[in-house]
Amino acid sequence: MDWHGHSFAFKLRIDVEHVESQRYTGDYRLTKVSVVNLLDLLAELDVKLSFCVLGITAEMFPNLIADIVDAGHEVYGHGMYHEPAFSGRPLNEQRHEMRRMRDSIESACGVKIQGIGCPHHGMADEHTLQAAAEMGITFVESRIRDKDAIVPQWHSVEGTDLKVLVPGGQNRGASDYTDRRPYWAELHEEAFSPTYARQKWMANLDWAKENSLMTGLVVHPWMLMINPGEVQVVKDVIRYAKDEGAWFATVKGLIDLAE
Ligand SMILES: [Zn+2]
Repeated sequence: MDWHGHSFAFKLRIDVEHVESQRYTGDYRLTKVSVVNLLDLLAELDVKLSFCVLGITAEMFPNLIADIVDAGHEVYGHGMYHEPAFSGRPLNEQRHEMRRMRDSIESACGVKIQGIGCPHHGMADEHTLQAAAEMGITFVESRIRDKDAIVPQWHSVEGTDLKVLVPGGQNRGASDYTDRRPYWAELHEEAFSPTYARQKWMANLDWAKENSLMTGLVVHPWMLMINPGEVQVVKDVIRYAKDEGAWFATVKGLIDLAE
């Protein structure tokens, strides 16, 4: 498997979502402070990542989203409001949210997004795929995957002529976490452990390298502000991925691989 000239891939996704910061820490501004700091850190590490941005955050902080793009990173969508999840809602409602998200991000930074990372651990259904396709969004990152595939595969949307790319199911991922959001998406989260996170995230990189696959990691800027030790772990993991020769996956790069 050739990951744009690398033997394995690391998709490090940064979720930019001030409403989640508000909900779990009581302060929406942490997201902005954290992203500003993170942009410096990523410049120092000389790495470009993919930022998954809520439409409402792009509306509230357009300059922040423009700064992410100016720093050379990719942005794609994370829904408009984060709440409620896409799955189970009528098509017209999902379509409306998808359009608002796409337009808010474009007005903030001039980028027409090519993908969406569905919120709530990727809860999505066929209507989500259809709404995305209708809005010109090619890549839908959700629980709907192509089980045996490594790179994204075209998925025909039920009852339409539309197609979107869905992720390959052979890869594995992880997310940061915090005990500030108990029972979130039906999971009880423990307090963040830098030791355990470092071990697990690096082991995922080792696994990806051994198998020539991709591993993902979702990082929440607001968690970087409240989880003791997480900034250092993220830094170490990025350095490790670079040293081991990972391709830092982007939505655009994944679409190229699929085509
Ligand atoms: Zn999120």
